[in-house]
Amino acid sequence: MKTWRRYEEYLLTGEWHVHTNYTDGRNSVFEICERARELGIPLLAFTEHVRRKLTYDFNEFLSDIDRAREEFPELIILSGIEAKVLPDGSLDVEDDIIRQVDYPIFAFHSFPRDRELYVECLKKAIKNKYVNAWAHPGLFLRRTGFSLTVDELEEIFKLMKEHDVLLEVNRRYSLPLGSWLNLAKQMEVKTVRGGDVHGVGEFKYFWG
Ligand SMILES: [Zn+2]
Ligand SMILES: [Zn+2]
Repeated sequence: MKTWRRYEEYLLTGEWHVHTNYTDGRNSVFEICERARELGIPLLAFTEHVRRKLTYDFNEFLSDIDRAREEFPELIILSGIEAKVLPDGSLDVEDDIIRQVDYPIFAFHSFPRDRELYVECLKKAIKNKYVNAWAHPGLFLRRTGFSLTVDELEEIFKLMKEHDVLLEVNRRYSLPLGSWLNLAKQMEVKTVRGGDVHGVGEFKYFWG
């Protein structure tokens, strides 16, 4: 079972996409928890950037999360990663890392400007048994000017439903498109709130 199922009631009230100063975020795990507590946010998922070759100590990141769970018992705190899809459809993360976090999500960052390859790799990523969500869905299309046909999108959403993968509603990039959200609703693909928060200051913007 995908981890998000256990916290389904918080899909739209939690903050499911947060970065820390382990990568390009500005605050520590603890500073972010502090702010979430002040704002009454019930759940935080720390979806840190990863690569197959990590530039930081992942165990330290996990132990911060463990300590934060003790310090902030009123918050549900999930460990996670945001992994980039590679041009072979695999994710840029080591197996032992993706296996041990609660909430792995995938995204397209740098990727070849090749529409067919994108669609093929997107499907592979959805079928990855660990992934919980598709982060900032459609950002690659926006950046390249490509689009998906309704048939293609239906096929993708069908796969997401089958594999229990969430569609992230990403505040940072205002994605996905409204038409995608309508189709997702019709097809019963669940959505999850992700601010792609890189600092506590952004909570004000994303959470009012
Ligand atoms: Zn991203
Ligand atoms: Zn992110």
